[in-house]
Amino acid sequence: MERWIGKIMNRLEKRLAKRREAQIRKMRMRIERPKSMIPLIRSSKKYHDWYKEVLARSCYRCAICEAPLELEAIQIHHKIPVSKIIKDNRLINFRQALDCKELWDLENGIALCFNCHAEKHPDITFF
Ligand SMILES: [Zn+2]
Repeated sequence: MERWIGKIMNRLEKRLAKRREAQIRKMRMRIERPKSMIPLIRSSKKYHDWYKEVLARSCYRCAICEAPLELEAIQIHHKIPVSKIIKDNRLINFRQALDCKELWDLENGIALCFNCHAEKHPDITFF
């Protein structure tokens, strides 16, 4: 190989390696910041269907105190938090989230009233 071609190929290799590294860094950051995908999941049709199904399975009553759930009081609690499911399953995009069985498992949701939900998350203020 001519020397000048060798030089170009060398530089090209370095450039491609840099691109790969940047891509991997980007993907890792997405995995380390799973919360960025949560609003997208929560506003999806699939999530709203899941939400309504959990509520129906609970007969529209709080699973702890059994109070009937008025519209303002409805809270759906995730036994395993969405952020943990995203991390555990290494979900890096919305398409993967839609296909993740654990995320849409009806057993992972329980319908609670505002007060009982607040007790599950003493560290969070719901407003
Ligand atoms: Zn309750």
